[in-house]
Amino acid sequence: MAYDIVVIGAGPAGLTAAIYARRAAKSVLVLEAVSYGGQIINTPDIENYPAAAHISGFDFATKLYEQAKALGAEIVFEKAVDIRDGGSEKTVVTTKNEYPCKAVIIATGSANRKLGIEDEDKLVGRGVSYCATCDGAFYRKKRVAVVGGGNTALEDALYLADIAEKVYLIHRRDSFRGEEQTAAALRERENVEFVLNSNVTKLIAEKKLTAVEVTDKSGAVSVIEVNGLFVAVGRIPENQNFSAVIELDESGYAAADESCRTRTPGVFVAGDNRTKEVRQLVTAAADGAVAATEAVKYISTI
Ligand code: NAP
Repeated sequence: MAYDIVVIGAGPAGLTAAIYARRAAKSVLVLEAVSYGGQIINTPDIENYPAAAHISGFDFATKLYEQAKALGAEIVFEKAVDIRDGGSEKTVVTTKNEYPCKAVIIATGSANRKLGIEDEDKLVGRGVSYCATCDGAFYRKKRVAVVGGGNTALEDALYLADIAEKVYLIHRRDSFRGEEQTAAALRERENVEFVLNSNVTKLIAEKKLTAVEVTDKSGAVSVIEVNGLFVAVGRIPENQNFSAVIELDESGYAAADESCRTRTPGVFVAGDNRTKEVRQLVTAAADGAVAATEAVKYISTI
């Protein structure tokens, strides 16, 4: 059976697209490689979504998932690896199946960026983590470092300050990309120390991480003893599999304006993997609504 719309990715953009497309009475398949929710699922407390003063990322994602399912979206856990464009019929190829459809919405979001230093991969699960809310509890009363200066790093540091004995926030500049309100909250914490103008240059481990080597702007090297290193240095858009049908910019984001249309008619892109200025939950949801509306409009023309 051919679906009207296949949505790739069950994060806030993809699930919102599914909700809008189902409300327009289109048949919708959502494909998800890992688990629903996308990166928001790891946010302990969302405070900036309109009319929801506080909600955990997990609760938000679960409500969204249930809403899309209740409206009749089919959700299948398979990784999409290709889109074939046959004009009015397209095919989304996963590692297991092929799904013909009329329109595709790519809402794949982004993956963790790595520091790219020696032994980083080897030490994942043995001191190196990319998710404070997933792994923070392992570091109760221990010493940890967070690296990065965006909202994720700041929020991770604040979250870990409640759990760990000591939190170092290591950032390569002396000002933060993340919100000043969170940085200010961190400055109030006695167990948080800022290590600025510095990069993590080496991981020191026996079986597990025991310390990190840090090099500052002047080239001075120091060692900080920590049991855990939380890497929060941004994300990489997950568009690589679809470059045959969409244009990518130099950073790998899918070129599309606010209409979410790509260079291939009937292929749309929504959420954090799209070129845009503001990557927030609210803009991901907005993209989902726009992409679905545009997809419905496109289907009416073929
Ligand atoms: P981000 O905003 O891109 O920040 C990445 C940080 O990592 C930057 O401070 C960057 O430094 C640093 N960095 C990048 N590569 C590095 C490297 N190789 N070595 C050391 N440091 C490196 O990423 P993010 O914090 O994951 O946030 C992603 C998006 O989600 C943002 O738009 C953010 O606002 C949003 N977000 C929102 C919320 C919320 O609203 N509650 C929560 C989390 C995330 P420079 O600053 O020097 O470039």
